[in-house]
Amino acid sequence: SKYSKEDIFRIVEEEDVEFIRLQFTDIFGMLKNVAITKNMLGKALDNRCMFDGSSIEGFVRSEESDMYLYPDLDTFEIFPWRPQQGKVARLMCDVHCPDQTPFEGDPRFVMKKVLKKASDMGFVFHAGPECEFFLFHMDEEGQPTTDTHEMAGYFDVAPIDQAENVRRDMILTLEEMGFMIEASHHEIAPGQHEIDFQYAEGMVTADNIMTFKMAVKTIAKRHGLHATFMPKPKAGVNGSGMHINMSLSDLSGKNLFEDPEDELGLSQTAYQFMAGILHHMQGMTILTNPLVNSYKRLVPGYDAPVYVAWSARSNRSSLIKIPCARGESTRIELRSPDSAVNPYLALAACLAAGLDGIEKKMTPPESVDCNGYSMSVEEMASKGIEQLPETLGEAIEMFRKDEFMKEVLGEHIYTKYLEAKEAEWRMFRAQVTDWEVEEYLYKY
Ligand code: GLU
Ligand code: MG
Ligand code: MG
Repeated sequence: SKYSKEDIFRIVEEEDVEFIRLQFTDIFGMLKNVAITKNMLGKALDNRCMFDGSSIEGFVRSEESDMYLYPDLDTFEIFPWRPQQGKVARLMCDVHCPDQTPFEGDPRFVMKKVLKKASDMGFVFHAGPECEFFLFHMDEEGQPTTDTHEMAGYFDVAPIDQAENVRRDMILTLEEMGFMIEASHHEIAPGQHEIDFQYAEGMVTADNIMTFKMAVKTIAKRHGLHATFMPKPKAGVNGSGMHINMSLSDLSGKNLFEDPEDELGLSQTAYQFMAGILHHMQGMTILTNPLVNSYKRLVPGYDAPVYVAWSARSNRSSLIKIPCARGESTRIELRSPDSAVNPYLALAACLAAGLDGIEKKMTPPESVDCNGYSMSVEEMASKGIEQLPETLGEAIEMFRKDEFMKEVLGEHIYTKYLEAKEAEWRMFRAQVTDWEVEEYLYKY
């Protein structure tokens, strides 16, 4: 591993770190933290820091509320945006029960279980996300709006592209935190951006996604903007996805998805992995697309997938795309996930599904290389191509039937997740939207 306890003590001294945030993630993907001063660092590194888990959503009942935080030393990172004297650093933590056993409601624990399974099979899992987000203005009260800076830029007297500097700042900050930024660009919708960082081993990537979102939001705020990872903040333009690129390597690091002999350059392992994901997609869509709003993004015409299909051609409507890079970069790209996911659960589900495909030697259906949007539901159905769930309600039904996902997540998270999503869906169903009022009030 990267750091020993001694390294952490030394860095804290050398860098004048005063506060350490002990971070963890709840089952709905919310980053949480407890701040300690450096005087308590020894206690924290001995896994003796405790917190009351009873008010964290989906965690525990109040009778069993004391939970322990076990810092993962390799996740030590200094926040570049905090003061440079008396600095603030963080450690990502595993959550343990009072009797020291790993807490089954900890998403990192779920991820670890699946990663263990992968390594038992001789695999290392690599993932790289493409996080899209919008930058919006705040109103006079400092509340986020859905107005983009670019509208303001356009109408402004001074023609400054504010976002260029915002993105630059985000990238420099992320690089200071050890990210390798590969590319960044303006996305299709006004105010929409994408910053891509280098792929890594699965757990590192899940941690990185959490860090990325925190850093992007923090830097946006510094520029007086609100960064949102909400999947579809505006009707009529693209939503924000979080495509996940995935591959397996062997323990020596050799890419196992590559096979130059194959027509598409993909190995048997890659096809089976992909088949596993396609097979389990419906039941795990709630994990890749967790919100009521996620399903507003998964509609035809906005570069998001609608059907459970794959393609090696550049096809923005397909669920799985095979990017043309080969060799060590051979991978599959799952295009349905959005950034509202809990990255630990979403990646764990993808990996578990893929491994199941390998174990059961699944074969993927034929690829669909035409534009999926132009095919009717009937045409798709006649080819045996399924649709992704259209609403959170449908995703809940698929998840409820899915014994495999229950096993992957464990009873605790599966049940809490299901209950919470059912409540969210019930609440949404009881709403009357602006669209309905506009459409019906006058006519009926
Ligand atoms: N924003 C699109 C989506 O919702 C993806 C655009 C792209 O291909 O990068 O998934
Ligand atoms: Mg994109
Ligand atoms: Mg992509």
